Amino acid sequence: MTRVDPALYFHAHMKDIPIPDSPFPLLVDLHTDALYEHMRGRKDITQRSDKGHLDLPRMKEGGVNGQVFAVWVSPTELKPGEYCDFALRGADVFDQVCAGCPDAVTPVRTPAGFRQATAAGRIAAVLGVEGGHALEGRLENLDRFYEHGVRVLTLTWCNSNELGDSSSDESQPHKGLSPLGRKAVRRMNELGVIVDVSHSADMTVFDILDTSLSPVIASHSGIRARRDFNRNLTDDEIKAIGTHGGVIGVVFLPYFLREPEDKASVEDVLDCIDHICQLVGPDHAALGSDFDGFEGVLAGLEDVTKMGVISSGLRRRGYPERDIAKIEGLNFLRVWDAVANRAA
Ligand SMILES: [Zn+2]
Repeated sequence: MTRVDPALYFHAHMKDIPIPDSPFPLLVDLHTDALYEHMRGRKDITQRSDKGHLDLPRMKEGGVNGQVFAVWVSPTELKPGEYCDFALRGADVFDQVCAGCPDAVTPVRTPAGFRQATAAGRIAAVLGVEGGHALEGRLENLDRFYEHGVRVLTLTWCNSNELGDSSSDESQPHKGLSPLGRKAVRRMNELGVIVDVSHSADMTVFDILDTSLSPVIASHSGIRARRDFNRNLTDDEIKAIGTHGGVIGVVFLPYFLREPEDKASVEDVLDCIDHICQLVGPDHAALGSDFDGFEGVLAGLEDVTKMGVISSGLRRRGYPERDIAKIEGLNFLRVWDAVANRAA
């Protein structure tokens, strides 16, 4: 069990980034694997269907106007040497999808672009890569990703890689972040790529917070105090991410929310948001569905068309409108502002 003092991760300069305002509601989701499903030909995300949880027409219906689309790089279906190319192909597919639906979605590479796209009534689509093995151990590939529009990198998936240890790997070969992983985090700070700690082992999370000069996200994570599972975040991690200025996107994956998982519902997502807000306040909670990254459905949040139940549920629980707006998008935008400002 890792013991830390979360106050160690307080950086005064990160508190200087104000929480932005938006003249219209934002509804931002920090993680979906829908692009991967599209790449594999299992669905066409430009067309409405009942396959999986998400496509562009259903996002419109659900009111989602900001989305991080992750290119998941399978470490088993692909072989080393193919990972980086697959991620870059994902970037091309992302651009093609967006170019084919210009009235619905805009690929955005900056917070300003995000604001413009959402103001124009389109979905602001942010490109991510899930799994640091996609770098193939070469920092130059970070720059290539950046040039191709990648603005979020999930440092590990369920496999440990050259950068650091995964929460799903008991062998913990690096005991946290590797020296290359530390360099990668600093390079991401320089470039303006958001560091995503979801999937990382506990020691990796604390090493990332120790290294990163910019706030980080946990794009799709659960709460370990509510569901004891090493993929979920401990209270110490939540406090440390919060004092470091970051945000935690609460996952909708039933197995991560409660046991038995068939009893999980949207109320568990709201409970996780409550838990984060009670620990570190409303500036550090966000949404991270993992839609199309899991089988089955969460009761009450069966697909992206149901996203409105989050704000109505928070309202029912007494959250002020300003806090709901933070959780549903402004917190993420604040982190991206901070990451982009530091890079600039
Ligand atoms: Zn994931």
